[in-house]
Amino acid sequence: MFKQPLEFVRLTPMSNCGECGYAACLAFAAAVTKGGENPSKCPYVDLEKLGGEFASSDSGEKGGLDRVDQLLEQKDLALVECLRGKAAALDFQIAAAPLGCFWLGPDRDALSFRCLGRAVVLTHDRVELDGEPAEDPRDQILLYNYVHFGGGSGVQGEWVGMESLPNSISKVRTLKVYCEDRVGAGFSGRVEALHRCIAALDGVVDETMTESCSAAFQIPVLPHLIILLIFWDAEPDDDFPARCKVLFDQDVLDVLDIESLVFAAERTAERLLELI
Ligand code: SF4
Repeated sequence: MFKQPLEFVRLTPMSNCGECGYAACLAFAAAVTKGGENPSKCPYVDLEKLGGEFASSDSGEKGGLDRVDQLLEQKDLALVECLRGKAAALDFQIAAAPLGCFWLGPDRDALSFRCLGRAVVLTHDRVELDGEPAEDPRDQILLYNYVHFGGGSGVQGEWVGMESLPNSISKVRTLKVYCEDRVGAGFSGRVEALHRCIAALDGVVDETMTESCSAAFQIPVLPHLIILLIFWDAEPDDDFPARCKVLFDQDVLDVLDIESLVFAAERTAERLLELI
């Protein structure tokens, strides 16, 4: 019945809400049509329209996830190659200052900067993090994309939520699920640990916000990409769970595209949780 992801995805609301366990409806549709994922994992799909085409069972789940992981990895690797190709045309000596990076001289012809507390060395065909090759293609996409964008116009200090950025409707939920909710749950009752972990990412306390929350921090994800992370700790007596909100500089889309921005926030959450 449905052989192509684009056919199946029309049965979803295409809201990318993440409830099925996939970050995007299209990824879920690819898992269903190509990998045997159970379509009932999206609570919004009208299963009656599917007839008996897809049985409601979990037997295909593992295969579906593996297959979609493979497809996404292939897509990521292709994007890394594309971005490397664009970086090949850049003069790193000229590009370094607008990006807030250091140029390592003609022998290495590499850019040096920090990303979430790690030392980055980026050449035209390779990225190192703390002296080791960056294994995850998503890290390479983020870093090459940053270089490709050219550094923007610097941080203006006016903070906005993802929802205030253009074309961000489908990303607000992803940011909440993969960054804000994880940090809120992971650091509930652990404000001191949050201070310690953020310091390890080169982050600093934002004193201007601390009266209205438990803690607020500016985190330099990249030289010209700072995120403001605001944390309210749990108040068990009032049945109030810990919460986190991430804000960006109002001109952040001069620095990165919205996909990379969401990934940068997701990576920030992962690094913080690794460090607990
Ligand atoms: S549950 Fe998955 S497929 Fe359904 S709307 Fe949300 S992200 Fe899309």
